[in-house]
Amino acid sequence: MKKNKIQALRGMKDQLPIDITCYQKIERILKQVINSYGFSKIRLPIVEKTSLFKRAIGSVTDVTEKEMYTFQDRNGESITLRPEGTAGCVRAGIEHGILYHQEQRLWYIGPMFRYERPQKGRYRQFYQVGAEVFGLKGPNIDAELILMTARCWKLLGISHYLRLELNSIGSLETRKKYHNILISFLRNHITLLDKDCKDRIYSNPLRILDSKNPHIQELLKDLPPLKDYLDIESSHHFLGLCDQLDIAGIPYHINQRLVRGLDYYNRTVFEWTTNSLGAQGTICSGGRYDDLVEELGGTSTPAVGFAIGLERLALLVRNFNSIPIPNQIIDVYLITKGEKQNNLGLILSEQLRDNIPDLKLIRNSCEGSLKKHFTHAMKLGARFVIIINKDTEGAEELILKDFLNNTQKNIEKTNACSILTTLLRMHLTTHDISI
Ligand code: ATP
Ligand code: MG
Repeated sequence: MKKNKIQALRGMKDQLPIDITCYQKIERILKQVINSYGFSKIRLPIVEKTSLFKRAIGSVTDVTEKEMYTFQDRNGESITLRPEGTAGCVRAGIEHGILYHQEQRLWYIGPMFRYERPQKGRYRQFYQVGAEVFGLKGPNIDAELILMTARCWKLLGISHYLRLELNSIGSLETRKKYHNILISFLRNHITLLDKDCKDRIYSNPLRILDSKNPHIQELLKDLPPLKDYLDIESSHHFLGLCDQLDIAGIPYHINQRLVRGLDYYNRTVFEWTTNSLGAQGTICSGGRYDDLVEELGGTSTPAVGFAIGLERLALLVRNFNSIPIPNQIIDVYLITKGEKQNNLGLILSEQLRDNIPDLKLIRNSCEGSLKKHFTHAMKLGARFVIIINKDTEGAEELILKDFLNNTQKNIEKTNACSILTTLLRMHLTTHDISI
């Protein structure tokens, strides 16, 4: 009896080879830009103690209340698959003493996990590229992070479809003061609030500001804006940031309702959003979190960072075909027919790999028809096929076929390796030669 198939968990997506070329291209561009701003890579565990996220993200946020993958390990300790990268990065920074009185620019890439309702652009396992800077308190670095993301969009050809939303949520004291204003305003309109907002009034009233419910947004029009309550240092910081963005020519939209979902932010918050992906339009978000290092047991250290959602970014790049995605998996497909020829093919392909380490070559002995191999080679994007065959006298014969120019020629057997090395090296540097 045929057994039931086991399928992937809901919201967990496989990335097949056909998707990977797009991701790799995007990741290469992001990495190049991030490196060019002097960041170092950090690799962090996927699981952490649950208490880390509760303390960092806040215990009354959507993420900690509803979205965490939390388990008990065999020792009965509560552990959680990381829902985001900042908390782990700060934990590691404190643990290894690399934040104390130092300037650090760190970046990471990897999977995050949130138990959310899966839909386009929203998965239970998704990938983020994140960057965090420690030890710098002025607005220059906030601006630099935004410029760095803007450069990524430019190189990915999607600047046109993205909009930068910016806000300052001030200091902890600002927010405390504003909470009271907000709570009394909401209490006066309690009958007009939806359940979500009612639940949030006392636990996390600031989150009501970015409610997706249009009635709530309409109601909030009469609320005095948070900027009227900003502390003076935060106002200066924000003006400094806006100045820098103006000087760099980066357009932005100040959005008084932007507060962000995680508790650790203060002062600058920002998001890059698009209208082209439906409801899941935020592809990058970030901000300042000057109190988090101390909150997690370190010495008070200013910090700012962002995270990019790679799936949403890839959807956008694909939507607009904004960069060429290579479909070439290999350069050369080598086919041999006969045992002696197979041995020659083995030696030749290893020599070619010695001579040209970047060369992508597949070797196959020809069991079916040559045509079948040609089709396979074309599907893999190969430019060349090398055929090692038996000639009419039974000796080995080498043929090089160029798919691009639709030509083929015989290669002299005794010099085959050096002729092919020269030719293929040229191909790899120019990707545009003929034989
Ligand atoms: P959203 O409002 O869409 O739920 P968020 O505020 O929860 O986003 P952050 O915690 O700021 O998101 O994460 C940074 C980025 O990671 C988001 O801007 C988004 O691009 C991506 N992201 C967040 N959650 C998911 C998810 N479940 N699936 C795919 N991408 C995600
Ligand atoms: Mg979310």
